[in-house]
Amino acid sequence: MQAALALDKHGFRVSLYEKEKQLGGLLNLASLPPHKQQLARLRDYLKRQLEKSGVNVLLEHPYDLKTLADEYPDYLVIAAGSRPLRPEIKGWDESFCLPFEHVLTGNIPIEESHVLVVGGGSNGCEMADFLLVGRNRISIVERMPYLAPDMEKKSRRDLINRLEKAQANIYTSAEIIEINSGKVIIRNKQGEMKEIEVDYVIAAVGYASNNPLYEAAQKVHHAVYLIGDSMQVGSIREAIAQGEMLARALTEFNY
Ligand SMILES: Cc1cc2nc3c(=O)[nH]c(=O)nc-3n(C[C@H](O)[C@H](O)[C@H](O)COP(=O)(O)OP(=O)(O)OC[C@H]3O[C@@H](n4cnc5c(N)ncnc54)[C@H](O)[C@@H]3O)c2cc1C
Repeated sequence: MQAALALDKHGFRVSLYEKEKQLGGLLNLASLPPHKQQLARLRDYLKRQLEKSGVNVLLEHPYDLKTLADEYPDYLVIAAGSRPLRPEIKGWDESFCLPFEHVLTGNIPIEESHVLVVGGGSNGCEMADFLLVGRNRISIVERMPYLAPDMEKKSRRDLINRLEKAQANIYTSAEIIEINSGKVIIRNKQGEMKEIEVDYVIAAVGYASNNPLYEAAQKVHHAVYLIGDSMQVGSIREAIAQGEMLARALTEFNY
């Protein structure tokens, strides 16, 4: 969205292809946990700016090599984001091991249950925070010694305080060995095993760049650029800055 806006501002004719029904990408998901609503305001601001701009926005239009061949733009910017990783755990059973996105969007409502979150990065901790609203009992299993080390300091402290207040069970330096008939078997660094009985398991083990179009497009087009999470999974700030910087670079290149 930012790349399209900046390119429009610099005088390019821009079409923005989005495969979903709405713009916003992961901002739609990122704004759902508690205390994250301001991200929806950022998304809505960018949407309003696009409405006022000359950008031709095409929703429910997946971009592929056929679109590229048909339209053949002077420049192609790929900002296709990322895809969620699924953990490879023995006994993973999709009847109660649920996808992160479906829980956060409320497609699978969970209340008053014992939920184990796999991964204690910022996504996993925010998922746990979200589940506390539904009065769930939470366990988090994280391979590293700390929870959400990359989160902004104050937000991290506040979130961990809420988890501690709700008596969430936090298992750091631990990993899941197996899931077996509703029981999750974990092992800590010392090799001690523990069996945890749960109602649901939710994976929050990160995202990987989504860029299959990039290599294919490069073979048939001379000016293809990759930005945001589809280049390297990062943050909103990085995705926005890259959109802005690319627009400036292309403007200079164009003169
Ligand atoms: C739960 C959660 C919380 C987060 N919280 C934060 C936070 O607090 N702060 C922060 O900085 N970052 C946060 N992030 C990360 C942040 O959301 C991403 O880094 C950022 O959204 C990346 O922007 P992007 O435009 O590169 O990709 P995305 O936001 O993933 O957008 C990519 C878009 O491309 C579309 N698309 C993909 N393929 C095609 C195609 N072939 N044709 C057309 N459209 C296509 C997708 O539908 C999507 O709309 C969070 C992420 C998650 C999942």
